Parts: sequence; C-alpha cells; structure tokens
Amino acid sequence: MVRRTARDYATRVLAPRAAARDVDNTFPAEELRELGGLGLLGVAVPEKLGGSEAGAVAYSLAMQEIAAGDASVAVAVSVTNMVAELIARVGSEAQQRAHVPRLVSGEYVCGAFALSEPQAGSDPGAMTTTAKRSGGGGWVLRGTKQWITSGDRAGLLGVWAVTNPEAGQRSISAFLVPGNAPGLGVSRAEHKMGLHGSTTVQLVLDDVEVGEDALLGGEGEGFKLAMIALSGGRIGIASQAVGIARGALEAATRYALERTQFGKPIVEHQAIGNMLADAATWLDAATLLTLRAAWLKEQGRSYTQAGSMAKLFATEHACKICDIAIQVHGGYGYTRDFPVERAYRDVRVTRIYEGTSEIQRIVIARELIKAHAARAA
Ligand SMILES: Cc1cc2nc3c(=O)[nH]c(=O)nc-3n(C[C@H](O)[C@H](O)[C@H](O)COP(=O)(O)OP(=O)(O)OC[C@H]3O[C@@H](n4cnc5c(N)ncnc54)[C@H](O)[C@@H]3O)c2cc1C
Repeated sequence: MVRRTARDYATRVLAPRAAARDVDNTFPAEELRELGGLGLLGVAVPEKLGGSEAGAVAYSLAMQEIAAGDASVAVAVSVTNMVAELIARVGSEAQQRAHVPRLVSGEYVCGAFALSEPQAGSDPGAMTTTAKRSGGGGWVLRGTKQWITSGDRAGLLGVWAVTNPEAGQRSISAFLVPGNAPGLGVSRAEHKMGLHGSTTVQLVLDDVEVGEDALLGGEGEGFKLAMIALSGGRIGIASQAVGIARGALEAATRYALERTQFGKPIVEHQAIGNMLADAATWLDAATLLTLRAAWLKEQGRSYTQAGSMAKLFATEHACKICDIAIQVHGGYGYTRDFPVERAYRDVRVTRIYEGTSEIQRIVIARELIKAHAARAA
C-alpha cells in the first residue's frame, strides 16, 4: 500500500514537474507537505508520533518510487525520514513529542542533518564545530557545516558539535536546532551537477544558543548516533539510486523499442539488447541487496554490512545503468529533451553522500574481519 501510494504520487505529481524543477531549481516545499500528508516523511516512525509505522522495507519501496519520479525530492524525503527516525529512537519523550509529529507531517517542511564540515567529510571525527555550556544551562554552538541538504529550508536540524575537545570521538554530541535559531545562517549555496531541486548549503553557526533540552542522547554520544542514523540512511540512498536507475532503464527500453536504425528497432541490434540485459540484471541485484538490508533492519538484526553492500552496489551500478541509458539514446540522450540526461547527473552523487563508495568498502571489510574473528574464536 505504501509503495502504491508513493508510485501514484510520483507518477502523477513528481515526474511531470521533474524536468522543469531541474531547470529552475525550485525547492519542492508544497510537494513535501503533500508527502507528509501521505505518511511518506515518517514511513518507519511509530504511529503514536504521527508516523506510518510501516517499517524499513516499505520505506525503501517508497524511496525507490519517489526517486524514480524526481530524485531531488527523494533526497529531502530521505533526510527527513532519517532525522525523524533518529529522534523517535533516541530522543527524550519531550523531544519526540515536540519534533517528530512536526517533521513527519511536513509542518517543519523537512529536516536536515548537519554532520559534515569543510575539512571533515569522510572523517566526521575531525569536526571543529563546538558546543559550550552557556550561563543559563543550555549550549552555545559555533562553527561551519558544509553540504547540508535542505539546510536553508528545514524547520529542524540535527547538528553535531564537539563538547569536550579532550575526548576524541567521544567528544561529539548531537543537538536539535530550530531552522530559525538566531545566529544560524547560510553562508553559501552550492551549484551542483544534479539534484537541482534540492538545496545544498554551507551553514554558519555564530553563537547559536539552544536549551539543555536540545541535546539529543547523552553528551558524547553524538558520533554513535550519527553512525546509527547513517546506517539506516544508506538504505535510503541505495533505494534512491535504485529508483533513479529504474526510471532510466525504463526510458532506455522504451526508446530502444521506438527508435529505428538499419531498418529495425535498435533493441533488435544485439549490442543494444545486451546493454539492456546487463542493466536489468544489475538493477535486480541492487534492488534485492537493498531490500535485504531493509528487511534485516526491520527484523532488528544487524544490517551494517548489508546496508553498506547495498549502498555500494546499488549506487555504483545505478551510475552504470544511467550511462547505458544515455548510450542507448545516442545523441538524443546527451540533450535535455530526454530524462536520462538528468538521471545521469542526479545519480552521480549517490556514490558520494552518506559515505562514499570507498568508505562503504572500509565498513564491509571491517565487518568481514569481525565475522572472521568471531568464527575463529
Ligand atoms: C549534494 C550533497 C549533499 C550532501 N548532504 C549532506 C547532508 O545533508 N549532511 C551532511 O552532513 N553531509 C552531506 N553531504 C556531505 C557528504 O556526506 C560528503 O561529501 C561525503 O561524506 C564525502 O566527504 P568529502 O566531500 O569531504 O570528501 P573527502 O572525505 O575529502 O573524500 C575525498 C575522496 O577521498 C576518499 N577517502 C576519504 N577517506 C578515505 C579513506 N579512509 N580511504 C579511502 N578513501 C578515502 C573519498 O572516498 C573521496 O573519494 C552532502 C554532499 C553532497 C555532495
């Protein structure tokens, strides 16, 4: 039912506007509110907090559909689900009640996740944003965050900062910061290759004061919370890649059936059929790996390695599938007249954000070594 709801909205509303959004960079504020109304901003969030409580598999399916319609909208949806799920999981009862219903309904427009910094991307432990105790018992945040998806639009941001510079990774804490907090400003908006309907901004925190109740989890638990959120988030990005690739493959198949060269549809030239066959096989494998990771998460089982495998495989192969889709379209594929050109640009970042492919390989290898050691013990 969740998939049907997402597919219906994506084909009826998102897909028809996607090309225009890519050109005029329109942020999908109205669409996010509507997606909130459909229960798609909190798919795996408990019903008592306003979510759909439909689980991680339903979330993956919904993300695939939304991304097939418009990948820009999908990234804002993905971050909002991730922030809502994290607060629902580790937030105090007061934090849950104050924020989760507003996130999942779209009242906050969307959520943002502010971990990365100009000098701390793959290595968030190197962050320099600080949070110091204020006189009034709260915290004062100071620093610069980089690459923050929807950072200029979100009603609520999760912001990571160092509270105890002596304590290494255990020095990092997570805070819930309102989008309109005094001192929080946008210092730069990125001009990206793709995902033009999604904003990506640099944020400056110039002595942003928040109350004691803004601390999410315990002091020093921020790094662990970021890793929990990103493990689930990787399933979201794998799903986004699967959705974009599926859209591109459908477009390429349609085109290969219609386009005639040398007196027959190009799909009947074996080279084209072979490319489509490879793409379809990779897409199936990517989808199954992604759903397996989602299923493990839903069962409460360990999914760190499965999530990284899904993200690595799905994003790397989604890029190849979008490349094939352009090749099948020939010169027309290189123009904005066909959606595969946008898919090719939109999909590229899935190999970079929420942990690059290189970082996923590190996670997979680390889990492999752990499992080997456990077997040997
Ligand atoms: C469009 C977009 C949206 C984003 N949204 C958000 C967001 O909402 N919130 C947020 O916090 N961040 C966000 N990010 C940041 C994203 O997560 C980082 O860009 C990513 O983690 C990589 O960090 P970096 O760009 O600093 O690259 P670097 O970490 O500098 O990496 C550069 C290269 O070195 C490689 N590398 C780094 N370390 C290793 C290693 N140990 N072994 C092997 N190779 C390595 C990387 O894989 C990469 O190829 C976004 C990024 C983009 C582009």
